[in-house]
Amino acid sequence: MTESFLHTPIEFLKGVGPQRAQVLKEEAGIFTFYDLVYYFPFRYVDRSVFHLIRDVRSELGAVQLRGKIVSVQELGSARQKRLVARFSDSSGDIELIWFKGVQWVKSSLRIGQEYIVFGKPTNFHGKWSISHPELDTAESLRQKKGGNLVPIYHSSDKLTKRGMNSAGFEKMILQLVSDPAFNVPEFVPVSILKKFNLPEREYAIRQMHAPTNNEILGVCRHRLKFEELFTIQLLLLRNRESTTRKIKGPVFGEVGEHLMKFYEEHLPFELTNAQKRVVREIRLDMKHGAHMNRLLQGDVGSGKTVVALLSALIAIDNGYQVCIMAPTEILAQQHFKTFSKMLADMPIEIRLLTGSTKTPQRKEIHYALESGALHVLVGTHALIEPKVKFFKLGMAIIDEQHRFGVKQRSKLWKKAPIPPHVLVMTATPIPRTLAMTLYGDLDVSIIDELPPGRKPVDTRHYRDGSRLKIFSFVESQVELGRQVYIVYPLIEESATLDYKDLMDGYESVTRRFPLPKYRISIVHGRMKAEEKDYEMQQFVEGKNQIMVSTTVIEVGVDVPNASVMIIESAEKFGLSQLHQLRGRVGRGAEKSYCILMTGDKLSADARTRLETMCRTNDGFEVAEVDLALRGPGDLMGTQQSGALDLKLANLGTDQEILKLARYCAEEVTRDDPDYALPEHAALSVELKRIASNTANWGLIS
Ligand code: ADP
Ligand code: MG
Repeated sequence: MTESFLHTPIEFLKGVGPQRAQVLKEEAGIFTFYDLVYYFPFRYVDRSVFHLIRDVRSELGAVQLRGKIVSVQELGSARQKRLVARFSDSSGDIELIWFKGVQWVKSSLRIGQEYIVFGKPTNFHGKWSISHPELDTAESLRQKKGGNLVPIYHSSDKLTKRGMNSAGFEKMILQLVSDPAFNVPEFVPVSILKKFNLPEREYAIRQMHAPTNNEILGVCRHRLKFEELFTIQLLLLRNRESTTRKIKGPVFGEVGEHLMKFYEEHLPFELTNAQKRVVREIRLDMKHGAHMNRLLQGDVGSGKTVVALLSALIAIDNGYQVCIMAPTEILAQQHFKTFSKMLADMPIEIRLLTGSTKTPQRKEIHYALESGALHVLVGTHALIEPKVKFFKLGMAIIDEQHRFGVKQRSKLWKKAPIPPHVLVMTATPIPRTLAMTLYGDLDVSIIDELPPGRKPVDTRHYRDGSRLKIFSFVESQVELGRQVYIVYPLIEESATLDYKDLMDGYESVTRRFPLPKYRISIVHGRMKAEEKDYEMQQFVEGKNQIMVSTTVIEVGVDVPNASVMIIESAEKFGLSQLHQLRGRVGRGAEKSYCILMTGDKLSADARTRLETMCRTNDGFEVAEVDLALRGPGDLMGTQQSGALDLKLANLGTDQEILKLARYCAEEVTRDDPDYALPEHAALSVELKRIASNTANWGLIS
């Protein structure tokens, strides 16, 4: 009934028809009346503000002018007529142009009469003009009801060609909402609306398109952002509920001999309290046969690897195999080395499988894996190829989740009759509220404590002019027996330029720190793998004191003796990357330094990034700032998550609303998980609609 009105296909809106409907679908994703009313303006122009013609700039977008028409002229051929009126105020003049309705407009214009003109000026050969402006007299404007805020909608060339520019959208939408049949049923439970003072849905939608004033508009936008985040949270919670309720995982009831032996004899240090807590959380999850789907967050150097190792041992002790998947070959190699080293004296078989594994070894690995002789398989996404078959896969550990999509995760699942427990590790901390939304289907464990003895890295910002001073500092550190990284940016689009920067840098470093006293490693993307390994090895073993490189060292090397990280052109790096690079030092007992070198000209964002780095070592704080600066879309390749296709809300700036939405969603889910109560009937309908419209929801779980 009322619902079905909203779901009427857009071609049935008066004045639309099949052809315009096609363009609306293709260009704006508008298929129904519903989609149209949810096509919100991206900004508003305040019509209580008047501009002077002299001040007209393209950045202003639409402007409102007050003045008089001084002349009117018909130009062009008979077939292509246009009407040009000269409009002037005390500051200057501008042309008003009409291509359509020339005769009618001409007859209605009054020379000398004061008009209020509204429209978007364009500049053609240095001359400003407004095509098809809105023209009102002060009198007629007073009679128009509504507020001063004019909505501005996104449009496109194709839409505009069919008359659907911003004003066209406004007209269409106003026509729709003034239809007597127009009705938007409320689905947010009344108790929530009351408790948090949220306006009703239909009112909020009407206000978005024709606001009374800024204040009311703000309240209504808030309500619609809430509604958006609230439904997402409900779907995520329900998804997780049904996943944990329905899906069984392998039962790891035993704390077996390998774990005990490792813990007592091989663990080279005492676990931090945070590590202990997280291991306990993981054990509890896997003990009872519920399926574990857990995100492990921890800052660089917080010791996630050993947590992964202990979890793997639990699986092995219970007769299962484990796979560890990393996004890059270097990372996979590193995990393989760490695991092999730590488990060296134990009867546990570990192998590495990546894209560069040779066929004979590959076959051997496939066989050992299927026969059950192999316990742990470390690798890249080569692991998810169909040829890779496990004897009994019980656990999948995924490092750096954000580079793997949900689809890839689910491929791993299918490698065992009972889906393996999943532990996803990420070194890029995400604010908790965002984690809830991005990974709402995962439980979150956090290692919020660094191993003892770590001193915060002293981070400072210097301009290129201070290079001599920095080199003296490097010299003094090398005198003390420390090692130094000097990192240059790597920008994919201009590999040649970067290479030049790096080589110039290398040259000046070798000039300042000559052989035989100093030995310098260089590592960059153009080198062969063996060369790279050799140079890296020289540095790792302490034979070379300085490492000059591009960001390839971001992951991979662990040199506790390195105490200085110099980042060149630091303004070119993102915050999380700067933080990751800084994590390469401060791993030993010595005081460490991170030096951010930049040019003199810095954008406001770059300045914020540098200040943040100098202020804090806390990865979560860094992540908060990163999120605020860039928004979540840019963060960590999060576009993969279907949950982020938001119309109004911004996960970076609307964290408070997100928290509220999460809180309300948790309450509803707890009190009435199946939405059986009458006050949740409309909510249930809306959630079904969203779930069926959004293909992505099927993937998340
Ligand atoms: P990340 O969380 O970045 O993966 P790693 O697991 O690589 O961190 O650990 C960083 C370093 O800290 C490693 O050298 C590791 O051996 C060491 N480490 C981990 N846990 C502890 C601990 N509890 N006490 C002392 N050192 C630890
Ligand atoms: Mg790690």
